[in-house]
Amino acid sequence: MDSIETVSPHTRESSSKRKVIAIVGGGLVGSLNACFFAKRGFDVAVFESREDIRLAKVVRGRSINLALSHRGRQALKHVGMEDKIISKGIPMHARMIHNTNGKRSPIPYGKKGQYILSVDRANLNKELLTAADTFPNTTLNFNHKLHDWSPKTGAMTFIGPDGQMKELQADLIVGCDGAFSAVRKQFLRQSRFNYSQTYIPHGYMELTMPPKDGDFAMEPNYLHIWPRNTFMMIALPNLDRTFTCTLFMPFEDFEKIRSGDEVIRFFQKYFPDSIPLIGVEALKQDFFRLPAQAMVSVKCSPYHLFDKCVLMGDAAHAVVPFYGQGMNAGFEDCLVLNEIMDQLNENIAAVLQEYTRVRVPDDHAIADLAMYNYVEMRAHVNSKYFLFRKYLDNILHVIMPKTIVPLYTMVTFTRTRYHEAVNRWHWQDKVITQSLWLCGVVSAAGGMYVLVRNSHKLPNISAEHLWTRMLALKPF
Ligand SMILES: Cc1cc2nc3c(=O)[nH]c(=O)nc-3n(C[C@H](O)[C@H](O)[C@H](O)COP(=O)(O)OP(=O)(O)OC[C@H]3O[C@@H](n4cnc5c(N)ncnc54)[C@H](O)[C@@H]3O)c2cc1C
Repeated sequence: MDSIETVSPHTRESSSKRKVIAIVGGGLVGSLNACFFAKRGFDVAVFESREDIRLAKVVRGRSINLALSHRGRQALKHVGMEDKIISKGIPMHARMIHNTNGKRSPIPYGKKGQYILSVDRANLNKELLTAADTFPNTTLNFNHKLHDWSPKTGAMTFIGPDGQMKELQADLIVGCDGAFSAVRKQFLRQSRFNYSQTYIPHGYMELTMPPKDGDFAMEPNYLHIWPRNTFMMIALPNLDRTFTCTLFMPFEDFEKIRSGDEVIRFFQKYFPDSIPLIGVEALKQDFFRLPAQAMVSVKCSPYHLFDKCVLMGDAAHAVVPFYGQGMNAGFEDCLVLNEIMDQLNENIAAVLQEYTRVRVPDDHAIADLAMYNYVEMRAHVNSKYFLFRKYLDNILHVIMPKTIVPLYTMVTFTRTRYHEAVNRWHWQDKVITQSLWLCGVVSAAGGMYVLVRNSHKLPNISAEHLWTRMLALKPF
């Protein structure tokens, strides 16, 4: 790293007239974004710190699979990738709740025919890189790690494959380098940049459930959940007929489990039905293969710096994974920026300003919702009232599809802006709760009225007599 080379990120079909867009990070959002910018005709250069995962033997990263839903699909559709990706996804129509007594009960995600898709993260990333690679005006630069960049000149310094520093210039830097973004570091040095980062006290660990007799060990078209109030396990199906089980639990509880026997005792107590499906020996080993991973939520604003740089995906808004929206929101970022490009005629300075204005409230709303949904997934689904309300909300949605739309439906199956979905949810909740109270009061008053009107027809039983009869029924 002793010399600095200054080069222009030339593309395969370089044209000095076209603006050069440097996308830092070739993960899910970066590679999709490359397709969006290339489709608009910009010269695009992607810089990714890892090697080319399409050639790598082992792909390291976060979750093995992810839930893809409407927002993500709409963005993929725009670059002609939706069909290819969904053909390798497994539909999940409902949550399948596993009780400690082995009982399972499904809770549908939405109306009949609505589902989310379990997709393989590595395959999705590979497909998107290949799609970006097919544009003649795009270059993919692997083993290029952004070291720093200058907000004054827009010059970026990378550590290249040979360990040498390289300086590169672009018209716009798009920071898609994830939750621990190096691009974002320069934003932190600017005045009036708001930033917050929260680690939740819970970590996650992935375990594999192998196929059973050549087929899925559990029903494949569900997202399986073992909600245990303060922690939970979930399982998503994979194309190879395995399930990836993810255990979310406070770090202090992970630390209490120190031996294979303790793992089995823990699973016998909380997830007994999963033991024969994962396998005793596999559980004992896999539990200690990797330490539990941390989860961080990042919020910041604004998302742009002058007309030089914009943050997108996890670099702008890392969210905890409990609404299955991190990637979906990141993909929607690309779609929203593209829509604003159309509206403002690719005037980059104006586009970036508008993008921050439109997108910040939505990404902040999904960050908060993701935090809320952890409690819903691990605890609320155990409550009878919650299940009743889910059921009622779904019935009301069928009767009045335009007036009552369940929150999950708005977030997962529509492109209703996230912050509008939250506002509407609060309003609906208030109306439904007040109506339930009203129904309760009216029924009680009606009952009293009928009793009083017909009191002469009732047998003459004294209150003392009734009390004695009731005590006799008490089981003590
Ligand atoms: C356990 C778990 C489960 C999840 N499940 C879901 C789900 O079901 N549905 C969903 O929508 N979302 C889910 N998410 C969220 C999702 O993983 C992220 O939102 C998504 O990966 C964000 O994509 P990204 O491209 O912005 O960031 P990343 O995927 O983190 O990609 C960033 C890329 O930038 C590269 N990079 C980093 N630093 C540099 C640098 N200095 N220079 C150059 N390159 C760099 C990295 O190597 C990486 O390739 C889940 C997350 C976790 C942790």
